[in-house]
Amino acid sequence: MRMPPFELHNPTSLSEALATAADLEEAGQDFDWIAGGTDLLPNYKWHINAKKHVIALAKVSELTELSPTHIGAMVRLHDLAQSDASHPVLAKAANSIASVMIRRSGTVGGNICLDTRCYWFNQSEQWRESIDWCHKCDCGTAADCRVIPNQNTLCVATYQADLAPVLMCLEATIHLASPSGQRSVLLSEFFELDGMTRNVLQRGELVTHLTLPEGAGEWQGDYQKLSQRESWDFPEAGVAVLWKRNGGAKPADLRVGTTGLESIPGFHTEEAASALVDWRGKESIDELAEAIRKAVKPVQNTWYAPSYRRKMVKVLTRRACAGLL
Ligand SMILES: Cc1cc2nc3c(=O)[nH]c(=O)nc-3n(C[C@H](O)[C@H](O)[C@H](O)COP(=O)(O)OP(=O)(O)OC[C@H]3O[C@@H](n4cnc5c(N)ncnc54)[C@H](O)[C@@H]3O)c2cc1C
Ligand code: SF4
Repeated sequence: MRMPPFELHNPTSLSEALATAADLEEAGQDFDWIAGGTDLLPNYKWHINAKKHVIALAKVSELTELSPTHIGAMVRLHDLAQSDASHPVLAKAANSIASVMIRRSGTVGGNICLDTRCYWFNQSEQWRESIDWCHKCDCGTAADCRVIPNQNTLCVATYQADLAPVLMCLEATIHLASPSGQRSVLLSEFFELDGMTRNVLQRGELVTHLTLPEGAGEWQGDYQKLSQRESWDFPEAGVAVLWKRNGGAKPADLRVGTTGLESIPGFHTEEAASALVDWRGKESIDELAEAIRKAVKPVQNTWYAPSYRRKMVKVLTRRACAGLL
């Protein structure tokens, strides 16, 4: 498939990257950031919302720092998976992404900002044209959404990145920069319930890094994932459960995050809090798993049926809690 032509900008510092973004903005030119390109370039080859300008972050060295409390946006997934500085559950989630070749190119920032996916959309241009397009890339036809028709305002494509649920459970803060300044938000408040806008990033704004609280290392837990082929595929469902111990059988604190089930990753504070109220070990884990199953609302736009994915959420939650018993 032929890549549509675009102009590649190669800034060597964060300030240069932001200045390039400001110049393009002023000239009325739309652009995309590119990190590892493992998501953006396949989409461009399929002529999905390709832009005329692309700003590469590969040479911006300020974005590559990795420590137990600081994760640069340009940290490669392979390095996150292998480093002693990474939280073990985060390293496990990173190691479950795609294949080693993709992990060596793919980055943390690209994974967090991953475009949402839908089997009516992640297809070649000819394929999408043959069904008269869909709302997310309608080619000027005002085509409807094929998953929830007759509304044409909301895209329910699925967020299928692995890192977010673990990072949300570790209470990560995401740091953003734009030509007009910098800001930070909790990662759990970064995502927006729309498969097209996806998150709170404004035009010209990028992710610089994530930070974890000092005590993040005290959290233990697990990340469990359902995918078609373990060696390769996106999560059809993913569940992260993290807890803190206080010496007793009951966890002192508990957090649950999910991915691959809706347009944004889920952070299930109420379900986790009620599981802790009257902790009864395995019984409480079963109740928590059922509560998470009820909380998620997958739609029919990935490989597996929504009913199967919800059933598997219960199984994955129980498996992720095994270390609590
Ligand atoms: C075969 C295959 C299997 C895959 N399997 C998985 C999987 O199992 N799990 C999974 O999570 N992902 C999977 N992926 C998706 C992808 O490879 C990873 O999510 C990867 O982390 C994306 O990072 P990247 O640096 O390559 O992103 P890019 O492709 O460079 O960018 C992705 C998006 O993020 C934006 N972006 C990138 N960096 C920034 C930044 N710093 N600030 C703002 N926006 C930014 C880009 O504009 C683009 O919209 C798979 C991909 C393929 C091709
Ligand atoms: S959810 Fe609807 S609008 Fe979004 S990509 Fe799928 S078919 Fe298109």
